[in-house]
Amino acid sequence: MNAKDNNRIIALDAGHGANRGLHHTGCAANGLVEDELALDFVIRIGHNIRLAGIKTIVTRPDSRLVTLESRGKKAVEADCDLFVSIHINAGPATANGVEAFVAEGDRRSYAIAQQLVNRLAKHDLRNRGAKWDSQSQYSRLRVLRDTYRYMPSVLLEIGFLTNSHDAALLKDKYWRQRVSIDTAEGIIASLAK
Ligand SMILES: [Zn+2]
Repeated sequence: MNAKDNNRIIALDAGHGANRGLHHTGCAANGLVEDELALDFVIRIGHNIRLAGIKTIVTRPDSRLVTLESRGKKAVEADCDLFVSIHINAGPATANGVEAFVAEGDRRSYAIAQQLVNRLAKHDLRNRGAKWDSQSQYSRLRVLRDTYRYMPSVLLEIGFLTNSHDAALLKDKYWRQRVSIDTAEGIIASLAK
């Protein structure tokens, strides 16, 4: 046990945000909006991490959009021990489930990502596994590139809001709370290593 063990900090990044308070920058379907759901998860996950006595910082504290480059920078400057970005997926109506991305070749983060995906899959989500960022084309993955040299860094996609099964789960705040408690436990478990 070193001094750092009592002073762990988790960076939580709610994907996207409302630009000028008007335009949502994530995806929307089935009455759900990605950036609002991502912030809801970050608030719930953060609360449960802090209940365990571990500190958190949030890169986007409210509904307003913040730049991608500010997110990783904030986590690195705060000397965080883990960076977790929360997103909700979109795709064809048949695509469903939970997956996570890490920077290509970052095996330390990959193991944490796989552990988190396995936990979330127990909440009635299809397990799509952990993936390298080269398997996705989106700019959101910049946050992984900005952080993984300094701390393990994982981008979680919690279900597809374009899929009716996943959307029904995402609308249920009790389900979101259970998933958030489990995600917080998984994050804390990853620190023990
Ligand atoms: Zn997203």
